[in-house]
Amino acid sequence: MLQQLPAPLMFKRRGETSYCLNAALLKLFGFAAGKDYRAKPTVFRFYDPLTKRELIGEECPFQKIEKSGFASTWVRLKTSERGLLCFITGSVIKNDDTEWLVFHIEANNHLMEINSERAGAKRHIEFNQLLTKFSSKLINASANDLDIIISQSLAAFGEFCDVDRCYLFEFTDNLQLMSNTHEWVAAGVTPYIDQLQSMPTSEMPYLMYHIKQGLFKIDDVGNIPDSAIVEREEFQKENICSILCSRIIANGKTHGFIGCDITGSPYTWSPSDIEYLQRIGDMLGNTLQNIYNRKAIHTMQLELIEANKQLQKLANIDGLTGIANRRLFNSTLDKDLAQSCRKQDSLSLLLIDVDFFKLYNDQYGHVAGDNVLQKVAQTLVNSCVGTDDLVARYGGEEFAVILPATTTDRAKEVANRIIGGVKGLGIKHEASPLDGVLTVSIGIATQADNCDGNCIELIDKADKALYRAKSTGRGRVCA
Ligand code: GH3
Ligand code: MG
Ligand code: MG
Repeated sequence: MLQQLPAPLMFKRRGETSYCLNAALLKLFGFAAGKDYRAKPTVFRFYDPLTKRELIGEECPFQKIEKSGFASTWVRLKTSERGLLCFITGSVIKNDDTEWLVFHIEANNHLMEINSERAGAKRHIEFNQLLTKFSSKLINASANDLDIIISQSLAAFGEFCDVDRCYLFEFTDNLQLMSNTHEWVAAGVTPYIDQLQSMPTSEMPYLMYHIKQGLFKIDDVGNIPDSAIVEREEFQKENICSILCSRIIANGKTHGFIGCDITGSPYTWSPSDIEYLQRIGDMLGNTLQNIYNRKAIHTMQLELIEANKQLQKLANIDGLTGIANRRLFNSTLDKDLAQSCRKQDSLSLLLIDVDFFKLYNDQYGHVAGDNVLQKVAQTLVNSCVGTDDLVARYGGEEFAVILPATTTDRAKEVANRIIGGVKGLGIKHEASPLDGVLTVSIGIATQADNCDGNCIELIDKADKALYRAKSTGRGRVCA
């Protein structure tokens, strides 16, 4: 009697180990009709769909009704032909003297034909809910948690469609290689991700041809033509019977594909299976594109910041001598003077001018004159020992040195080092009355600790001192 009922049933006598399967159940799991399937207990395996552990011994649902008389739970039922996520409800039925333990099996899947329009509409709603949930997660995903959310999306989709495996492949090296980046497998299904890394796409021309068209749909791997025998055998080696893959586009390019497999026995993919897979694929494509865009913007920002830093540097540096220019001199003097006022500290300023430089240019030429300016600048840098000292080109053949926290006496020491240093360069200057070598004159101004922080006055004072150094014979320091 149980054999004839239209609902898929699994049943056995209390105490017996082997169970019976009615025709509806066999059909659901893809077994051929008309054969005797008084199955061995191992033929149908029960798995916990969440932990993916096989339910054996006390955990086996049959054992549960044997004990308590009732059981209802979600399981993944797996046979050699197919695995399906099912809701099973079991109870004990008495017939004459015999007690039967009966399970009603309700498959969650779409793999059975959904005849009623209502069931189809309900599935669409469920799918849209799933898509909404993951698309909002993905929109907000950072590059770091993207992997986890992609894996969760594949798992949710795999469970929803009740396939055996659901995965993402990404192409690299200009579509030359492909790698399985994420994989979900149903309970009892062997994962393959580790063996599917950096595979040359040239070995899968049949798959590649279809992926480039957007869709690879194989209802029965056995029907793949002989021209693609390598691919057919590869799929068969993995026990795959049906495959559905949909291209993923990101950044306007083929980025990879999302796919799912059914193992055991062939299955005819329905238009809604295809639509669902494509929509999940589009969602992943959009997310990857977002992440790329964000990364590209970030890289651009870093480049801009670097370019700005370079510009800032260039804007403050004198092109000929490589030391600070007038602009940086002005801002530094402002800042340092204000600070020395706050600290009630002294600050000295040196103004340095090359002697008879016009004559030098006239005799040796401007290029030689430029070289001299570079050497003088370097001598100034070498003569300053304070970490906060600033050596700048003030203009033409004039230089300035800011010496924070420096008294006039200490500034004189620095100035004399400079005078000696420049003389020591031994640059011939035949037109100069000062021993025929190139010299400089220096004026010093010191802002005492009772300062008012006026830059113009300080520069003016130094300029006047410089004038005195010039008018009293050059090649010397005046304060
Ligand atoms: P003094 O001892 O009184 O300072 O005499 P001087 O000839 O050095 O003074 P003056 O101000 O008359 O001439 C300065 C010269 O410096 C004139 C100009 O051609 C030269 N000069 C200014 N900037 C540069 C430069 O970048 N390169 C070269 N080669 N010469 C420069
Ligand atoms: Mg001058
Ligand atoms: Mg001069």
